[in-house]
Amino acid sequence: MKNCIIIGGGVIGLCSAYYLHKEGHEVTIVDQSNLDFGASYVNAGYLSPSHIIPLSAPGVMKKGLKWMFDSSSPLYIKPRLDLDFLKWTWAFNKSCNANHVKKAIPVIKDIALLSQELYDDIKESEHFNFHLEKKGLFMLCQTDKMLEEEIEVAEMAREEGLDAKEVSLDELKKLEPNIALNVKGATYFKCDSHTTPGEFMEDMKAYLKANGVKILKNERVEDLEVEKGEIKSIKTNKQVLKADEFVLTAGSWSSLLSKKIGLNLLLQAGKGYRINTQKSTGITIPAILAEAKVAVTPMNGFTRFAGTMEIAGINHDINKVRVEAIAKAATRYYPEIELSQEEKDRAASGLRPVSPDGLPYIGKSKKCKNLSIATGHAMMGWGMATATGKLVAEVISDKKTSLSLTPFNPDRAF
Ligand SMILES: Cc1cc2nc3c(=O)[nH]c(=O)nc-3n(C[C@H](O)[C@H](O)[C@H](O)COP(=O)(O)OP(=O)(O)OC[C@H]3O[C@@H](n4cnc5c(N)ncnc54)[C@H](O)[C@@H]3O)c2cc1C
Repeated sequence: MKNCIIIGGGVIGLCSAYYLHKEGHEVTIVDQSNLDFGASYVNAGYLSPSHIIPLSAPGVMKKGLKWMFDSSSPLYIKPRLDLDFLKWTWAFNKSCNANHVKKAIPVIKDIALLSQELYDDIKESEHFNFHLEKKGLFMLCQTDKMLEEEIEVAEMAREEGLDAKEVSLDELKKLEPNIALNVKGATYFKCDSHTTPGEFMEDMKAYLKANGVKILKNERVEDLEVEKGEIKSIKTNKQVLKADEFVLTAGSWSSLLSKKIGLNLLLQAGKGYRINTQKSTGITIPAILAEAKVAVTPMNGFTRFAGTMEIAGINHDINKVRVEAIAKAATRYYPEIELSQEEKDRAASGLRPVSPDGLPYIGKSKKCKNLSIATGHAMMGWGMATATGKLVAEVISDKKTSLSLTPFNPDRAF
């Protein structure tokens, strides 16, 4: 049994705690927030093995440059004279190639599938009631060009053994009969499931507390005391804490702390927003509005519209123009939906921790014997969280890991 401290209680931190506790370790989570906001609460809730293409794909950088001057674009990279940002941009650009995508696809698929299975296991255990459904995911397209691209992605997914296909407008109407759709066509990934994130987070926190995991809220880790490649203690704004093993799951903030062990983790915060509506929408199957890059999820008691990727530093400021763009996209694809000003005013944001190559960092760095790192999952952190937590617990328990950690090596070169 080891004494473990987890720095950061987002979904990755909570899932790491869950599997570490299952392995018999003593666990404490420290989080600077009240554990009720941010990426792990505002996300679209997709468990989507269909998302096999990493963000760093051919053409993305070009699109990013074009969209830099459009205040309502779904991807925005704010140019900054900051060395970490410049290094990240260089590495991201380098990863935007077909060869990298080909290598990343099976890696992403395997961790997403394992994670989906583990979510099902957790849901089946008696202590969890959170909303989880397997209804698949539509990619809704309004242009021929996008439809062609999405059909290609569906074919690639099928080659990887995933249940994915093009659907005709008639089929679409039958599958989603209670809402009008303004689209040219769609693909359907039957393999995907979805959840209501807030419910999972509340269930998980309650389970961990009931099982003796300590959760220290509103406590910020400020320093790591490192001696001979090992963390001796951590300093928070309230106290000094010691443990045998430490886990860094601080999301977009992780690189601020990794520097303390001499590791420059290339990571940028990718801000996204969500708008919820409690009104009945008639939407029963999640959908991505492909051109607008907006995710739509029928959650438990409400529908969520989520989108935008703003690489513009660490802040939760709400950019009203981008929130408006999400709301307008909803109406363009579902003409009967009009999000109210009040709903838009209640929009919330979260920061995705984005690595330059679209793959998370999971495992130990050579620079520190007792620090496991688990971050950088970008747009897929929710869907990969359970598998990530399991991998972290396997590393710390000196067990053979369920998946190879080589592609996730925090020391990898770009
Ligand atoms: C709009 C939007 C939609 C998304 N949709 C999906 C989706 O459908 N499917 C999917 O798979 N993913 C989705 N994602 C991505 C997913 O939400 C994230 O990848 C995931 O939540 C990241 O979890 P995390 O635990 O790494 O980080 P976070 O949730 O950010 O948690 C990190 C925690 O660390 C704490 N922390 C930071 N620094 C310190 C410190 N020094 N001391 C103590 N605590 C600290 C923070 O307070 C925070 O609570 C979406 C994200 C957004 C924004």
